[in-house]
Amino acid sequence: MSSHILVLGGTAEARELAAVLAARDGVRVTSSLAGRVTRPGALDGDVRVGGFGGAEGLASWLREHRVDAVVDATHPFAEAITRNAARAAATGVPLVVLRRPGWRPGPGDCWHPVVSLHAAAELLPRIGRRAFLTTGRLGLAAFAHLAETHFVVRSVEPPEPPMPPDTRVVLARGPFTVAGEKELLTAHRIDVLVTKDSGGAATAAKLSAARELGLPVVVVRRPPLPPELTAVPDVSAVLERLGRAAGPTPSDPRGCGAADTCP
Ligand code: NAP
Repeated sequence: MSSHILVLGGTAEARELAAVLAARDGVRVTSSLAGRVTRPGALDGDVRVGGFGGAEGLASWLREHRVDAVVDATHPFAEAITRNAARAAATGVPLVVLRRPGWRPGPGDCWHPVVSLHAAAELLPRIGRRAFLTTGRLGLAAFAHLAETHFVVRSVEPPEPPMPPDTRVVLARGPFTVAGEKELLTAHRIDVLVTKDSGGAATAAKLSAARELGLPVVVVRRPPLPPELTAVPDVSAVLERLGRAAGPTPSDPRGCGAADTCP
């Protein structure tokens, strides 16, 4: 009997998970994207794009498409879809939340943790005058009133107003290297980095570059998960949680789950 797994995506981990599941016998995987990026890149398995229409819409979609399990592998700052997934799953569909671990400061780092983009904007003028802003093109509005700060903004797609008046846009998609990040920070004479605690390797190089250049970093903390949810940190932990719904592993054709005690 086959199972149908919905992966709420938009991250590298969601892409990796879709590839693993799509390669398994007896598993149908559908990746769901919000549709924010115009050319999202190929994904293994089926793909659907666009919002579901809130938690109720998602719950209907799960019923209509006979979904056996949902994996919320969305970005740690995508709060609304995670809330909706929790509510929709409460109607009886197993939900696994995948969150890559957050970043941690190392020796020599000068980090200023803040609770929100607005808190970052409030603090920023006291820390620097030339900011490298990597908080995503949709987060620029929080900084739009800062006329005295020069911003270099990096995003995958061109940002839309409102944004700060003195803004230079760099369009690029990770992964980035430490050498490349140091070059960018130096070329633009950046004196402070602003980032969300997205975690993951693809965009971590900027933190190493900031450390090596002795630059302060304003780090926006992650929003908390809904209290009823706990997250797992990687794709293999998701597969373990999914158990039989994830189908047999290539090395275990009987499909034993991690908690099984088969000889
Ligand atoms: P959000 O605020 O949590 O979601 C807003 C609405 O967008 C949701 O209520 C839902 O609409 C729809 N949506 C979000 N993710 C979806 C998905 N994977 N499939 C279908 N509909 C989705 O999300 P966001 O912060 O705008 O992020 C949107 C997407 O970009 C997410 O998939 C996330 O993984 C990815 N992303 C986000 C960030 C970030 O910093 N926030 C960074 C990188 C990638 P309905 O209520 O109509 O269902």
